[in-house]
Amino acid sequence: MPDKPKNKSFQEVEENTEHFLNSKNQGFLKVTEFHGHVCPGSAIGYKAAEIAIKELSIVSEDEELACITENDTCAVDAIQVLTGCTFGKGNLIFNDYGKQTYTFINRKTEDAIKISMKKSFSVENIDPNLNKLRQKVKSGNANEDEKVELNTRLNSVSEAIINLPDEKIFNVEHVKVEIPKKANIYRTVECAKCGELVSEHRIREINGTLACIPCSNK
Ligand SMILES: [Zn+2]
Ligand SMILES: [Zn+2]
Repeated sequence: MPDKPKNKSFQEVEENTEHFLNSKNQGFLKVTEFHGHVCPGSAIGYKAAEIAIKELSIVSEDEELACITENDTCAVDAIQVLTGCTFGKGNLIFNDYGKQTYTFINRKTEDAIKISMKKSFSVENIDPNLNKLRQKVKSGNANEDEKVELNTRLNSVSEAIINLPDEKIFNVEHVKVEIPKKANIYRTVECAKCGELVSEHRIREINGTLACIPCSNK
């Protein structure tokens, strides 16, 4: 163990990931280092990412692979880490539909798959006590034993999800979709109201002056 003092949150991450370190699941370890904790959501995202990489035989260094996610849950962090589809690169597109549905597109081959969660899958079925305990810890009413228990349960539920056959979690179908455009590089203009710089494609014109979205909504 290194003797450098660590802040608490990092120590917690380490304790959480220890189990997965031992299981040698380097992929999920990377996800957890990025995401900060072990949870069923990131395990679900891990599975979706694994399916995408397997089905489309690609990981995105540049923008070769694109993902349209229909939720912004913990799962999307796993997808960013494992597939290389990230918000920053512009090859992760977010549709705020509240659905555990992902479309992955291989821009080179134009092959695409749609991954959507099965009705028969539920975290509740894997561990009926998890959500109640999670709520209790979140509300601040849990004792130390319950906090430890929650960690253990989160670890084992996540591991169970990772070990489930893909078809127990998701429907996977190959689909034809419009290939999303690659990220553009835009000119920057100044908002006449707040003076901040705005990417050209997000500027609004109000009575002949150019304003950013928040200023034009005022
Ligand atoms: Zn999470
Ligand atoms: Zn402004």
